[in-house]
Amino acid sequence: MAQQRRMGGQPMFILSEDSQRTQGRDAQSSNIMAGKAVAESVRTTLGPRGMDKMLVDSSGEVVITNDGATILNEMDIEHPAAQMLVEVADSQEEEVGDGTTTAAVIAGNLLGEAEDLIEQDVHATTIVEGYHEAAEIALEAIAEQVNEGEVDDEILKQVAESSMTGKGTGGLTAESLAETVVEAIRHVETDEGVERENVAVHTQVGASSNATELVPGIVIDEEAAHDAMPSEVEDASIAVLDVELGVRTGEIDAEYAIDSIDQLNQAIDAEESEVQGYAETLAESGADVVFTTDDVDDRISSFLAGEGVLVFDNIGNSDARQIVSATGASRVGALDDLEESDFGAADRVRTKNYGDDDLAFVEGGAAAEAVTVFVRGGTEHVVDELERAIGDALDVVSTALASGEVVPGAGATEIAIADKVRSAAAGIEGRKQLAVTAFADALDVVPRTLAGNTGQDPIDALVDLRAAHESEGRAGLITDGEDVTIDDPFEYGVVDPADVKREAIESATEAATMIVRIDDVIAAE
Ligand code: ADP
Ligand code: MG
Repeated sequence: MAQQRRMGGQPMFILSEDSQRTQGRDAQSSNIMAGKAVAESVRTTLGPRGMDKMLVDSSGEVVITNDGATILNEMDIEHPAAQMLVEVADSQEEEVGDGTTTAAVIAGNLLGEAEDLIEQDVHATTIVEGYHEAAEIALEAIAEQVNEGEVDDEILKQVAESSMTGKGTGGLTAESLAETVVEAIRHVETDEGVERENVAVHTQVGASSNATELVPGIVIDEEAAHDAMPSEVEDASIAVLDVELGVRTGEIDAEYAIDSIDQLNQAIDAEESEVQGYAETLAESGADVVFTTDDVDDRISSFLAGEGVLVFDNIGNSDARQIVSATGASRVGALDDLEESDFGAADRVRTKNYGDDDLAFVEGGAAAEAVTVFVRGGTEHVVDELERAIGDALDVVSTALASGEVVPGAGATEIAIADKVRSAAAGIEGRKQLAVTAFADALDVVPRTLAGNTGQDPIDALVDLRAAHESEGRAGLITDGEDVTIDDPFEYGVVDPADVKREAIESATEAATMIVRIDDVIAAE
């Protein structure tokens, strides 16, 4: 009453007039539709026969990819509920590095099933509870599918290859790339675990992807400061500086009142000797290779070239950090402070020209703690997609190695999960049972989609897969060259890390239940 009097009897608005509000079923169905649409948009890219997408942004920039997270991020999705599916893909990418399409597709189907349940008057909270319960059972089912033996190099290669098939890497290439990927991850394996961040990927256009190789060190986009510098230095002592090597800018700007030629000569001499001083200090320091984040005067470069020192100037801050961490060098901010103990070491530093690009390779010795997959490919689009595929492969191999757990791919794990969840549903009372069954149906979408993308009839394939699962245990829809067979994926080396499946179930369930629970959308103008 008091409030109404204060408001003078006027209706009270708490929202701005321009804001839009959708409530109840309308809000639910519009959110669900948006989420489903997003999942639908990546469905055709799933699996070894998945197709690619070409995405063109407003400035005409083109990306060709098969990678779920990349597609969803490039699509510039605005709808807030749809955006939550993009987040599913992103968190999948971040946590385990692969399975982004799978996670988005499962989330989309969980939403589709929820929509049907809502139409049958099953309450949203019942659906949410049922989905969470089903997700728990799904995790148990995944645990039952985990391989028994050790995850050795052979299996790691299969994990890498399974994640790369269908990524435009070509048949033979995927196999040799898988080998490179496993070698890279083994290289950064320590007692404390896998140091994934020590594996870099560097792309360089201009050769076939078969030329992709593992560099025992780091690769950076830099060229020598002077043409006459050596292109290769063995057993390098490496200095990393944040020092401008030249006459300091401040001094050049200072005004000289020069009255005579003598004075001018004096000033020039002073400058010359300052420059000479830097050059000699550096040459005498014993560094064979110098990286600095600042300018180097041409006279100094030329002098150091004569001394056989290889110098890189104006290097980026992140490159400097990489060199420091790879070679054990300490960054030095003033030339006078440079001591031998600040030097890093590498077996070899070399520069190489690739058409328009110059690259520096810092290899071996202390630098070999880091490795770089040096990706080659014919065109920019090819190397970009290869870079994403190799990035995924590095992630899955490191995930599989860290946990030592892999599960059968090709839809076999999803079939097993759906089966277990469906059986468990029978023991669940009330309408929640419907939600648990719906969860199982939503998981069928993975094998169904794999079948559809290989040109098979999805329903027939699903029926056959279930029957094979019933009689044989492990059964997936394996694409092997031209053939599509129902068999044990482990026999064909089609394996995924268990954590990729777990994460997909968890993030898809989380996003779908979050969207289902919303019954009121208030959008500011
Ligand atoms: P995601 O973004 O979910 O990783 P992918 O397009 O990479 O999507 O497809 C992954 C799915 O493809 C996994 O379920 C994996 O087991 C399956 N897969 C990989 N290789 C094969 C194969 N040779 N035959 C059938 N399925 C495969
Ligand atoms: Mg994948």
